[in-house]
Amino acid sequence: MSTVYDKSESGKQGTSFSRELLAEGDPEGELDSELLRSEEPLLPEVTQPELIRHYTELSKKNYGVDDGLYPLGSCTMKHNPKPMEDLAGDPRFQKHHPLVSEEVVQGNLELAYKLGEDLKNISGMDGITLQPSAGAHGELTGMLMIRKYHEVNGELERRRKILLPDSSHGTNPASAAVAGFDAVEIKSNEKGTVDLEELRSKVGSDTAGIMLTVPNTLGIFEKDITEIAEIVHEAGGLCYFDGANLNAFLGRVRPGDIGMDITHFNLHKTFSTPHGGGGPGSGPVGVKEKLVPYLPVPQVEKNGEKYGFNYDVANSIGKVNAFPGSFGVMVKAYSYIRALGDQGLREVSGNAVLNANYLKEKLKESYTVAYEGLCKHEFVLSGSDVGGGVKTVDIAKRLLDYGYHPPTVYFPLIVKEALMVEPTETESKESLDKFVEAMRDIAEEAAEDPEVLHQAPKSTPVGRLDETKAAREPVLRWREEESGK
Ligand SMILES: *Cc1c(COP(=O)(O)O)cnc(C)c1O
Repeated sequence: MSTVYDKSESGKQGTSFSRELLAEGDPEGELDSELLRSEEPLLPEVTQPELIRHYTELSKKNYGVDDGLYPLGSCTMKHNPKPMEDLAGDPRFQKHHPLVSEEVVQGNLELAYKLGEDLKNISGMDGITLQPSAGAHGELTGMLMIRKYHEVNGELERRRKILLPDSSHGTNPASAAVAGFDAVEIKSNEKGTVDLEELRSKVGSDTAGIMLTVPNTLGIFEKDITEIAEIVHEAGGLCYFDGANLNAFLGRVRPGDIGMDITHFNLHKTFSTPHGGGGPGSGPVGVKEKLVPYLPVPQVEKNGEKYGFNYDVANSIGKVNAFPGSFGVMVKAYSYIRALGDQGLREVSGNAVLNANYLKEKLKESYTVAYEGLCKHEFVLSGSDVGGGVKTVDIAKRLLDYGYHPPTVYFPLIVKEALMVEPTETESKESLDKFVEAMRDIAEEAAEDPEVLHQAPKSTPVGRLDETKAAREPVLRWREEESGK
């Protein structure tokens, strides 16, 4: 594999403009000379077909949802139907500049408003903001609202702590800390859920709130959640529900019905936009009545038959985004929710849980399951018992040779050699069986010929990379001396 610079040859041209015109720069002499380049830009010189072929070749080295199963736990690849992409790409949605007047975009505002109403219904919440651009951004928005709530009640000084189970998603403690709180860890019990005794011992008058990832990163639903809510509320704290993986209970459980005060959605997980799709994402936040006054501005409102933005909210935490949110993602989410309907949404969670449990029971024959019992949309295996000195990283790398995207590895941190698996809800039994077969073959290789695993991957454009060098010593500049041109 060579870079496009390796393919460059002086004098070749890929544009249809004449070289003279490009070289002339500013033929009319309209620009200040200091704005003009003194040297030619360092661009590769290739023909148009060479350029197209280079990027087509690169694109074929990718692996995506359209290639095969994508069992990435927590980061999660839900179903992303193409018709929703087409709708979001419709110029009537896409071509609106975010600063055009509200009159011109009544339809867009109506869509945003109705999506907000749907999300309120789905989560059992009273208010909503569609502004945050990601799940973690939603968490931060939620934490800022918790701050504001305690501030208005004159208790912010002493309420400094956010409680977090050790099974919570990694972004949770980070969001609490960025909002200025101290993150306090709560240990899980042997079932992988919050230990109520431990919670009681940590909760107090300094508690600002709790952040619960549900299902937690072990794929387990917090069965004591209403009791947890009571304990935290009694101490004057608020309950934040990380609903990024709503696909596990969509249409069955509403955070607002089980004592939760705030929840965020990952539209770019549950509602038809791929997570990790290169962005943008959308992380709306729903809140109960007592937090509605603190929602960010602008808020999309309906007055009579008209829709508009309201910036005039006295106790709002303010703006959390430059514009009112990632509109294309909202189009996909809204059309997906409308296309599925109540029954369809319920089936999403049914299939997600069925697929995950089927896979877990099958994989149990060759791997250790970290926590037994029914899981929700995902589960965690441990790669520590396959033998042959094989580790989780070897299993993940070997899966690439079998043509699969590996599961999430080494997360959650509370499981040794963790392999976190989540099958998309729309995978067929046959495709799950094929994945099981690959995993079983790999376990057999670990016992019989572990060296194959230590050497994997063999079939990819690059082999085993230095896991940390790229992060520690990034090379961000193209180096002329290395290209030899
Ligand atoms: C993905 C995820 C997040 C973070 O979402 P981003 O959009 O990546 O910021 C938070 N919590 C949970 C449980 C998640 O799975």
